[in-house]
Amino acid sequence: MAKTILITGGAGFIGSHLSEKLLNEGNHVICLDNFFTGSKKNIEHLLDNKKFELIRHDIVEPVLIEADEIYNLACPASPVHYQYNAIKTIKTNVLGVTNMLGLAKRAKAKILQASTSEVYGDPLVHPQREDYWGNVNTIGIRSCYDEGKRVAETLMMDYHRQHNVDIKIIRIFNTYGPRMAQNDGRVVSNFIVQALKGEDITIYGDGSQTRSFCYVDDLVRGMISLMNKENFTGPVNAGNDAEYTILQFAGMIKELTNSGSKIVHRPLPSDDPCKRRPDLTLAKKELNYEPAVQIREGLMKTIEYFKSIMQL
Ligand code: NAD
Ligand code: UDP
Repeated sequence: MAKTILITGGAGFIGSHLSEKLLNEGNHVICLDNFFTGSKKNIEHLLDNKKFELIRHDIVEPVLIEADEIYNLACPASPVHYQYNAIKTIKTNVLGVTNMLGLAKRAKAKILQASTSEVYGDPLVHPQREDYWGNVNTIGIRSCYDEGKRVAETLMMDYHRQHNVDIKIIRIFNTYGPRMAQNDGRVVSNFIVQALKGEDITIYGDGSQTRSFCYVDDLVRGMISLMNKENFTGPVNAGNDAEYTILQFAGMIKELTNSGSKIVHRPLPSDDPCKRRPDLTLAKKELNYEPAVQIREGLMKTIEYFKSIMQL
């Protein structure tokens, strides 16, 4: 049966893919966004769809909407963007999430929170399982995001315990794909844009830190499976568990773009996690989740996207 689904942050990178997929399944989608890091361009191909509605709104302010389900994605995701106005990032994760939970409670809607691998901080357990409580600096430059997302999880659980709100928490690991912002400073967009322009590829630190990269279609499938799963709240990891050093990753981008760019080193930002890889055991067991897109295939699609927007 068609549902009415509110997606906050729907004009962002992941939100636009999620909107597309949920519309394709026949649902009504209300996309709510303040366009801080998202853009109309990401969803312009959906604007003619009668089942798609766009609202410019900031979740830090309350809003009255009727919906069966809420996917709460509103929050800048890249370090450059979430540090641009750190206090606003915390407000989005505390006041914004409280508003969305209030809405879910009143409308009796299910709500899914886009949490993050950053709740594990610079992890002392590897790979990261959901029962690991994390190693997070409360006062550093990443804290507005990491701690914001941790409070958001707490709020979700408290609304569940106190008001019986049907909540879902998904911990997203580094996700990439078409419609990532060209200027968001994340490693995938930076390296691809640098390689395509023939500019130096900037590795922060010695490049021995690791990340595990997930193609956006795999993630979106995981999010929808979690929303549809009865009697399971999470938190659950979603991502791809193939792990690469940033140095290896730079080599791969150079090769796939056939680029002559030089690899250069820049200072490592503070609190940059040394390693990160999801333990996907719980996601596999509860959601039958299995990432399907191999890194080279996903990167080629992403490189084609960046070529098209850079008109190369
Ligand atoms: P994004 O920056 O492309 O999307 C975020 C969207 O939220 C944007 O459209 C932005 O304009 C909107 N937004 C920000 N603050 C808002 C506010 N106060 N009110 C209304 N809208 C607001 O980022 P993304 O990569 O698509 O990330 C989406 C969600 O997934 C975020 O919550 C992020 O924390 C989470 N996440 C992403 C990743 C990743 O690797 N991409 C990893 C972990 C978690
Ligand atoms: N990084 C890098 N060069 C860049 C951008 C990022 O070496 O131009 C590194 C960054 O220091 C981190 C990793 O790549 O170790 C992933 O960074 P990103 O900002 O994409 O995500 P996050 O740190 O939030 O996982």
